[in-house]
Amino acid sequence: RIRQGLKKTSQVLNTDVRDLFKSEGRLIDEDFLDDLRAILFKTDMGYDPTEELVAEVAKNMRGRVVHMTDVIDVLKTKLKELMAQDESPITYAASGPTVIMVCGVNGAGKTTSIAKLACMFKGQGKSVVLGAGDTFRAAAVEQLGIWADRLGVECVKGPEGSHPATVAYQAVEYALNNNIEVCIVDTAGRLQTQKNLMSELTKIRDSIRKQIPEAPHEALLVLDATTGQNGISQANNFAEAAGCTGIVLAKLDGTAKGGVVVAIRQQIGLPVKYIGFGEQHEDLVLFNPDKFVDEMFD
Ligand code: GDP
Repeated sequence: RIRQGLKKTSQVLNTDVRDLFKSEGRLIDEDFLDDLRAILFKTDMGYDPTEELVAEVAKNMRGRVVHMTDVIDVLKTKLKELMAQDESPITYAASGPTVIMVCGVNGAGKTTSIAKLACMFKGQGKSVVLGAGDTFRAAAVEQLGIWADRLGVECVKGPEGSHPATVAYQAVEYALNNNIEVCIVDTAGRLQTQKNLMSELTKIRDSIRKQIPEAPHEALLVLDATTGQNGISQANNFAEAAGCTGIVLAKLDGTAKGGVVVAIRQQIGLPVKYIGFGEQHEDLVLFNPDKFVDEMFD
């Protein structure tokens, strides 16, 4: 399934790299390196990683006639080195409910990612409650409710017009009173001004802490992979405002910009924890950099 999700990225990489090798072997010269640079750049991994990969190929192979697989092997090894991250699953509370706050701009895939996470926890045999904290959008509250019904989990919704922090409080309260293991709190995705966003997310965080001082145990930022590099500055704003602990990268199936995970790794000091690659609730996996790189070139 991940392979399907990365199909657009791997198609670009494989088709274009294969095109560079019209015959069996190919001389690694400046023309080749320029073309390779252009291909890598298309995956949106960013300037520095692209240059590092090209330099690695040049260092190992310039002036030699090599096969495509030799180049791909060098690229894969270097990419894995650049990502240098272990799998980074959710950190659970030592006891009591684990509270996960989820943020991101509207449309990034927040609601769907919450449903996917809930489905994953349920699959692990954990009880889950959702907090519909995106109270500025009636549709978001409704959509989360629909997912909750479909997945058979509880969804705490405030009365219309309630503050996101109130809903967050009630969701945590519900989790505590009902011995629920995981409480996932949605937040508003308005990015009107940095100050406004910051104060809203801080209020949500504070209301959660009133009941569980060490919560939220995770604050996940959902990023839309199709926005590629453009999502990164936005990510930095959120990371600061919400004290994010990790990233859920959604919509990888919709883009050839899968290289953006490398850019994220380099430009945001947060691990990619999960990747989403479809609209269904099972289309989410724990991010494993080695597997990801292998799939990029599969
Ligand atoms: P939110 O506004 O951030 O809550 O975003 P939603 O979760 O409502 O998602 C916005 C749109 O993107 C919806 O049509 C989703 O079905 C779609 N979507 C979300 N995640 C993915 C994904 O991983 N892959 C694809 N192809 N679509 C997705």
